[in-house]
Amino acid sequence: MSGRIKPLDVSVVNKIAAGEIVIAPVNALKEMMENSIDAKATMVDILVKDGGIKLLQITDNGCGIDKDDLPILCERFTTSKLEVFEDLSKIETFGFRGEALASISHIARVTVTTKTEKDQCAWKASFSEGKILGQPKPVAGKTGTIITVEDLFYNIPSRLKALRSPGEEFNKILDVIGRYSINNNNVGFSCKKFGDSKVALMIKADLSTKDRVRIVFGANVSTNLMELNIDITDDVQRNGLLSASGFVTNLDFTNKKPIPPAFFINGRLVSCDPMRRSFYQIYSNFLPKGNKPFIYFSLTIKPQNVDVNIHPTKREVRFLNEEEIIDRLAILLQDKLASIDTSRTFKTAS
Ligand code: ADP
Ligand code: MG
Repeated sequence: MSGRIKPLDVSVVNKIAAGEIVIAPVNALKEMMENSIDAKATMVDILVKDGGIKLLQITDNGCGIDKDDLPILCERFTTSKLEVFEDLSKIETFGFRGEALASISHIARVTVTTKTEKDQCAWKASFSEGKILGQPKPVAGKTGTIITVEDLFYNIPSRLKALRSPGEEFNKILDVIGRYSINNNNVGFSCKKFGDSKVALMIKADLSTKDRVRIVFGANVSTNLMELNIDITDDVQRNGLLSASGFVTNLDFTNKKPIPPAFFINGRLVSCDPMRRSFYQIYSNFLPKGNKPFIYFSLTIKPQNVDVNIHPTKREVRFLNEEEIIDRLAILLQDKLASIDTSRTFKTAS
């Protein structure tokens, strides 16, 4: 080791950056699904081969991509969603960084077929390492976008080796699609394994939240599900909570395998550990020992109060007055559970 400092090769930089965003096929899928929702799609169809390693294909009926934008589509930091840094404080789309497709194109073979309303035909182009390969070709197609990702991690053998089995990777994909479907009521989702005649998941666009929960998490969850009425009073609003909806299981719900809660903050699926701990703590006063509830909460927090830019996968977010907001929701949950507890005969586990 000479100890001298040298700049990294661009392709190395890009592969490292991509590896931070895409750890497994499910991360790529989530980014693309969010792009479809950002594009106002009402139907998102997903096709998966070998747990997403061989093939991940997302077809949506969103606004499509302008043919003239295709050459820079997979370049790093190219986006239609953010112009100046200040916009980040009021961002309403999932994306803003213009990094997802770029990253994916550095670690997989990407093909995009897309058509906007005003175009006569669809345009198809392939991408590698951020760059378009040749010129877009005219093809037949409907308004919307099909993104095909093949041979994920073909150039990062260590990442490939670290993956779970195709079956497990597929389950992670199904889980994320299911969770997004619950929080995107006007959007339909389907997911199919390549070669299977039957779909693994089908959520029609007009289904209610409860029906979505039933399809994704089963009838045991949905029949025991109750909606919480969350009043947004002035003091709550002052803390930055603009709206909240919650669906949680009642005290008759028993399950052996706990289902991680589905928390959404401004539409993003997040793991909010303080919220999980607080809500589980409350349930532990009511449920037989070892039983965990199913919890789905979707919060809208003043965009200026939320920092979505703390992690490349956006899995975690920070927001102001986190403690006050969680405490308020916890009290509400506590009251609700206490009221149903008094109106039933409770069998203790002892
Ligand atoms: P970001 O979402 O942060 O802007 P991406 O790399 O995910 O970055 O996408 C880059 C751009 O490609 C988006 O800003 C959007 O304009 C376009 N795009 C990607 N996927 C789709 C899609 N399914 N439908 C329409 N436009 C899309
Ligand atoms: Mg995006």
